[in-house]
Amino acid sequence: MSSRTTDDYEAMAQAGVVAVIEPSFWMGQPRTQVGSFQDYFSSLVGWEPFRASQFGIKHYCTIGLNSKEANNEALAEQVMDLLPLYLHKENVVAVGEIGYDDQTPAEDKYFRQQLELAKEFEMLVQVHTPHRDKKAGTIKSMEVCLEHGLDPSMVVIDHNNEETVQEVLDRGFIAAFTIYPKTKMGNERMVEVVKRFGSTNIIVDSSADWGVSDPLAVPKTASLMIRSGVAKEDVVKTCYQNALDVFGKSGKMKAEHWNGSKGVDQRQLFNDNSVLRGQEPKVDNDKIV
Ligand SMILES: [Zn+2]
Repeated sequence: MSSRTTDDYEAMAQAGVVAVIEPSFWMGQPRTQVGSFQDYFSSLVGWEPFRASQFGIKHYCTIGLNSKEANNEALAEQVMDLLPLYLHKENVVAVGEIGYDDQTPAEDKYFRQQLELAKEFEMLVQVHTPHRDKKAGTIKSMEVCLEHGLDPSMVVIDHNNEETVQEVLDRGFIAAFTIYPKTKMGNERMVEVVKRFGSTNIIVDSSADWGVSDPLAVPKTASLMIRSGVAKEDVVKTCYQNALDVFGKSGKMKAEHWNGSKGVDQRQLFNDNSVLRGQEPKVDNDKIV
């Protein structure tokens, strides 16, 4: 969400999105200093949750050294030292996204170190699987998790497709699907996946970053599933409940955070700043007249 606009937050709230989990990742421009990571992580546990709250959305995140930037080893070492400072923060629900991009030795090294960190902190893991050589990369990611003694039900394997899902479910991991508007995994394909593989341990998520992506991909996929005759129970599980059940194991994500919420109060400030730029604040209340 860091790279999305307030219009996106408004549209998401209107479409029924109540909460988001923003995985820390690569920013397009490679970072050259550990301070850039520090400010980014601080934003994910500070400013961005505030910004989301101003539009009625509860914000959680995952914190980790992404696979692409693990290849800058001098910097990676410093980022590893930072991670423990953030993993305890109240909206951090997992270590992630971590894993393989090009499947280099450096990616392998920091993936393994972060799995150990997740074990030490008793945290969930969100795994990014490579877009090239996907099936082998996905299997390797799971094997490494098992080798390090992680409980597969505490590991979300992301960016699945029709080729990888069976392997992931068979091993007891959680299979997440990132919906992209045009390429990779589209929502028509997702409907077929749920029809074929069911709704247990499957999570639908959205790409919502600085690239071509759609923060409404989850509600749109949910609508398409309903229209395509998928049972409502399966839609609720794949587009809401499974994510809550899995990431809820962190103890930090709870439905009570949004059920019974008093609504939006845009008079609130974060470090003396608001999101309003001089506009009238919107304040929800329960006044009938
Ligand atoms: Zn990813």
